[in-house]
Amino acid sequence: MYIRRALATGAALLATAVLAAGPAHATGLTYTVSGGGSSAPGTAPFVASSTSSLTLGPIVCTSAAVPASPASVITTGPSVVDILTLNRLTGSGCTGSTSVTSTGSWTMHGTTTATAGSTDVVAVHLHGVSLVVAGAICRFTVTGAGLVDGTFDEATQRLTISEPAASGTLTVSNVSGCLGQVQNGSSIGMNVVLATSSALYLG
Ligand SMILES: [Zn+2]
Repeated sequence: MYIRRALATGAALLATAVLAAGPAHATGLTYTVSGGGSSAPGTAPFVASSTSSLTLGPIVCTSAAVPASPASVITTGPSVVDILTLNRLTGSGCTGSTSVTSTGSWTMHGTTTATAGSTDVVAVHLHGVSLVVAGAICRFTVTGAGLVDGTFDEATQRLTISEPAASGTLTVSNVSGCLGQVQNGSSIGMNVVLATSSALYLG
C-alpha cells in the first residue's frame, strides 16, 4: 500500500515536472538578446510605462507601469528562450478607484524570428499571467490558463499585450461586488501598450 502510493506520487510529480518544463522550450524561439546595451550572458533590468490605457474587462486604468522594484529582468546573451521575466505590472487611475496589480512572475517568449537589425516586430506571448483587482466596491482575480498574446516592436521599444476575452485565456475568480459586471468563471480581455527604456533587442 505504502509503496503503491509512493509510486503513484512519484509518477504524478514526474508528470508535473514534464508539463512545467515543456512550454519554455516548446513554445518560444531562441534569440540573441540585448538589454541595457549589453548582449553578454547575464541580466538587465526592465522598466516600462504605458502609452495607452490598461483595460482588463470592465476595468480601465489611465496608465500602467512595470516599476523598478520589484525588479523585472531581461535575460541577455545568446540562445535565450525566456527573454523577459515580468515581476510587477501595476495600473493607475483605474475604474472605481480600484488597484490593479500583477501577481507572480510572467515569462515572455517570442514566436517569430528576429534579424540582427533593430526594427523587428516579434510576436510574443506571456506565461503565468495573473492579476488582482481590488477596491471598495469591486474585487476579483484574473488568472491565465494559457498564453497571453502580444508583440514586441524593437523600433518603438513597445510591448503590446492584446488578449481578447473571446480567446478564453484569462478567467475571472474570487469576485466580490463589482455590480455584476464580472462573474466567476467568465473570460476577460486585457490590453495595454508598454514602452520600455531598457533597450531590449532580439536578434
Ligand atoms: Zn511560451
